Amino acid sequence: MNNWTINDIYKKLQNPDVNLKTPFSYVNKIKTKNRTKKLSLGKIWFNILLPDDYPLILDTVDKNKINEILTDIYKKYDLNIATNIVNTLNKEAFKLSTVSPISLSIDNVIPSEEFEKLKQDFIKNSENMTDKQFKNNANKLLKQIIKENVQDTPFIKALESGVSGKLSKETFKTLMVSKGYCSDIIGNITKIPKAVSDGYNVKEYYTAASEARNGFYVKTQAVRTPGYLARKATMAAANIKLDNKECKTKKYLNLTVTNTNIKTILNRYYVNDKDETILITKENSKDLINKKINLRSPLYCKSKNGICSICYGETAKQLNTDNIGILAAGALNMVAVNIMMGLRHKSERFEVIDVDFIDILKNSSANISELNNLLDIQKTNIYAKQDNIIIQIDLKNYSTSSYSDLPDKINLPGIINIEFENNITSLPFAFNVDLMKPDQMNQKGKIFTFTYNSGDLIISKDKYMKSLNPELVSKLLDGTVKYITNEIILLESLVKEMPKIGLVHLELLVSILFRDAKNLNKPARLSNYKNIKLVGVKDLPFITGSFISKLGFQDLNKAIKTSLIDENKGKQLSPIDKVMVRNNNYN
Ligand SMILES: [Zn+2]
Repeated sequence: MNNWTINDIYKKLQNPDVNLKTPFSYVNKIKTKNRTKKLSLGKIWFNILLPDDYPLILDTVDKNKINEILTDIYKKYDLNIATNIVNTLNKEAFKLSTVSPISLSIDNVIPSEEFEKLKQDFIKNSENMTDKQFKNNANKLLKQIIKENVQDTPFIKALESGVSGKLSKETFKTLMVSKGYCSDIIGNITKIPKAVSDGYNVKEYYTAASEARNGFYVKTQAVRTPGYLARKATMAAANIKLDNKECKTKKYLNLTVTNTNIKTILNRYYVNDKDETILITKENSKDLINKKINLRSPLYCKSKNGICSICYGETAKQLNTDNIGILAAGALNMVAVNIMMGLRHKSERFEVIDVDFIDILKNSSANISELNNLLDIQKTNIYAKQDNIIIQIDLKNYSTSSYSDLPDKINLPGIINIEFENNITSLPFAFNVDLMKPDQMNQKGKIFTFTYNSGDLIISKDKYMKSLNPELVSKLLDGTVKYITNEIILLESLVKEMPKIGLVHLELLVSILFRDAKNLNKPARLSNYKNIKLVGVKDLPFITGSFISKLGFQDLNKAIKTSLIDENKGKQLSPIDKVMVRNNNYN
């Protein structure tokens, strides 16, 4: 048929024998070069919603494909036309899903006897499986039930579309194969091998319920942390702009390129053996893997007016902005919020990690010989080796969503300072741990002082889920973590938490937090990190930055005092500034 209209498709779908997979002939002057093609009704629907001169799309259009097509459309067409196309697609997609809804029938959820048998074996043996085996076996069963029950139905398209949330393979797995891992509010991880459709016993029911409770909790409480964090970071970085004059620095970030971090350094410059400055592109990036490179970095930029465009790279130019500070805070926000939102959907997406304190400490920047002197460090437990080891915790320093105060322990982020004979060392665990309450403890409001004697259990944890811990990122950016002594340790700690974020954003944030101790107005990068002071994102706007970024902060009086009064002593204030000062009783 020539000249299909969108309504022709809805009319065809009225016929009970026709669905979106039914083939029809389709001709178009440009898309098929006037040749007749057999296409499914769904494909015809999609192609006629795209502009007439847009190439024919024959692939399955899943989440990634639609992103690719939409980006392409915004590139090729005028903004108004592109917006219209997207709006129409949106509108018609709602209409289509009403006219021809994709639904699940009872046949899709009745398993074969063979499948039931395999699943019973899986449930029976799950106790002895490692986490990896458990996941692999569950995924095998998922493949089988999809093949048996939904492969040839329209429902498979919904499962394969790549959307997250209710209609996904993960949900189908929970329904038919296995519920998998559940995490409660304080991070206890329990495995339920049965599927929802198998029915739960009392214990399983309560385990699943505690996960649901965790979901509500994360949704209402924990998602606030990354938002607040990003706000603080925005205020701190707001005045960092791109400087188009090359700073010609000779100090670089030494980075070993890996398969994981290569995507985070595209469009940046590095300096090769011949002292040439080279842009890292998709094409040449493969040659860099497993090599150590000298990356031009905001950490070592010598520009006094922001960060120069060679140290920063091409990302800002592609996005057509000079406001690279705000860009960094935005990236931080996106990564943190997305991960937190994901956290409430599926625990399965997250890797369950077996704790090995010995191993973690070996690979950290912590002072191991000092720690070994104080502590008996075992795989999942840490005991006191000396009498009078003191740990002081002020819960006011933590947001309420980050800790749980229980009768016998406090579950909290594992960056903990340990005091012994007036020396302080830090544990650097990037996940929540159980800090046991010893017999000898003192509580004043929210301040706890724990005194451990030789043999006392101090810290315990056996498994945790690897996901972003916004509370930890917050502590790192607040500059309150004592073991951070230089810019590389801070950068590495942040990368460990957010491995996928563009590295330049983290380097920029780190580069503004390290200040010259003699003159806090000066970033430490300008004096080669000789005499440093780490200033957190919360305090930074009061030291540097524009009046607006200070004003944006909650404490209006403090902003006026620091930026208008203290900094302008003896100077003539502008009329507006005078009014601000007068109205706030600073006269
Ligand atoms: Zn530079």
